Amino acid sequence: MRLTFLGTGGATARGRFNSAVAVDERLLLDAGAPLLVNLSRAGIDPDGIRCLLLSHCHGDHFVGLGTFLIDRVLARGPSLMLLGPPGAEERLDTYCRALWGNGWRSMGRGGFDLKHVTIEAGERVEAEDYEIEMHEIQHDNGYYDATPSVGYVLDDGQMKLGYTGDTAPGPWVDGLLDRCDVAIIECSGPDPGPTHLSDGYVRELAGRHPTTGLILTHFGAEPPTIDGATVAEDLATIEVERGSY
Ligand SMILES: [Zn+2]
Repeated sequence: MRLTFLGTGGATARGRFNSAVAVDERLLLDAGAPLLVNLSRAGIDPDGIRCLLLSHCHGDHFVGLGTFLIDRVLARGPSLMLLGPPGAEERLDTYCRALWGNGWRSMGRGGFDLKHVTIEAGERVEAEDYEIEMHEIQHDNGYYDATPSVGYVLDDGQMKLGYTGDTAPGPWVDGLLDRCDVAIIECSGPDPGPTHLSDGYVRELAGRHPTTGLILTHFGAEPPTIDGATVAEDLATIEVERGSY
């Protein structure tokens, strides 16, 4: 799989864009800003993105969709499959109404087709030659407003890629890493609070999962150095395959 990191910063990162990863130039894992311009900077055709996988609807993971979606609406671009936690489509619609008005979906006179596919954690769906499974994640873990959050496992028939999205520490993270050849995992700083993974916790995870390749993202401070883990950088591409990473 070809992973293009469009943004590797957490919500308040001062020197990095917000979280978004393009997979093989066809799928998006989250959609932090500025999505549309960074797809172009990375040489990826925005209309080539056919499936959007949202981990949760905090701003640093979906604000980039405001311009990405209206570009597709106005250009009458190809349909887009949306996977996300419960309530994702409604949250996205509310956001786009605030930006563009209630008729945003038909601004292109006919609009485009946004297919929201609802699956439960543990269920799988086929999309763009991948088998995609939603994985239960606890991000808020009892804090804030209990924002629904999910992770993903993508299987292209050759390897399995995991994505944590934002997550509190807990057995659900180990459960995801157990099932993947490579995982993109959040790593939010030395002391990011109870709703994110600290550098120290990710170091422990790397020790517990020595056969899972870890790619770190969602930084709130300078990324740590962790044996066996790779630090993702904005607008950098990493090629991964089973056994070679
Ligand atoms: Zn975040």
